[in-house]
Amino acid sequence: MPSDACSQQLSCEALKAPRFPILTFDDSQPDRPLGRGFRIDWLMPGESLVSILWKFACANALPGDALMRLMCPDADPLEGMIPLRSALDLNHLRRLLRLPVNVLRTSLLDRSPGDRYHATFRYCRQCAAHGYHSVLHQLAEEDRCAAHRLELRTRCPQCRRQSPFMINSSVIEAPFRCVWCRSHFCYGLLPVRSTTQAMRRQDRHCLQDRLLLRLGSDASGGSNG
Ligand SMILES: [Zn+2]
Ligand SMILES: [Zn+2]
Repeated sequence: MPSDACSQQLSCEALKAPRFPILTFDDSQPDRPLGRGFRIDWLMPGESLVSILWKFACANALPGDALMRLMCPDADPLEGMIPLRSALDLNHLRRLLRLPVNVLRTSLLDRSPGDRYHATFRYCRQCAAHGYHSVLHQLAEEDRCAAHRLELRTRCPQCRRQSPFMINSSVIEAPFRCVWCRSHFCYGLLPVRSTTQAMRRQDRHCLQDRLLLRLGSDASGGSNG
C-alpha cells in the first residue's frame, strides 16, 4: 500500500467506524448523492469546517482534490481558501454535506469588524486526539481550549512548522495532522476512535457555553447530548 493511502487509512480508522460500506467516489457518476452515511451526530458543538471536511472525506472515501472540486468548482484545489462565510456558498455546502445551514454557519469564521481570528491552524492536543477541531480555537483571545483548558498550539510537535488555517486539497488529506510532515497533532496514533462518545458530556457543555459567549446566536450545531 502506498504510504499516503496508508496514512489516510490510519486517519480514518481513528474516527468513529462508519456503519455503512465506504463508497468509492466515481467521477463517471458526478450526480450520485454523497454523504448518505454522514451523520450530524458525528459532529461536536462548534466543529470547524476543516474538521467536518476531514470526516466527510473519510466517510465518502474522497481524495482532497475531488472534494475541493465538488465544494468549489471554480477554485484551484491546491490553493483553496480561508474558511470564511464570505468565501463559500452555504447553500451549495448544505446540499453537498447534507448538514443544516446553522451548523455550517457556526463552522465558518466571520469577517465582521472586531471578529479577529488566527491565520495559522491552532489546536488543542486533547481535542485532536478526539478527532475534533473547533472554530473557537481560531478566534483571537482564545488561548486555551474551553473543554480541556490546555494551551492552544500552532506548531507541529515533530517539524515545529505552522500550518495555515486553510481549506485545500493538501489540508483535507492530512486530517488532524501537520500539512508539512503529516505528523499527528496529538503525538502519534489517535488513542480513541470516536468523537462525540470520546468527549465527556461536561466537556461538550463547556464548548457549547463558550460558543454561546463568543458567537451568541450564531452558536449552534453539532451533537450536544
Ligand atoms: Zn480541547
Ligand atoms: Zn510537521
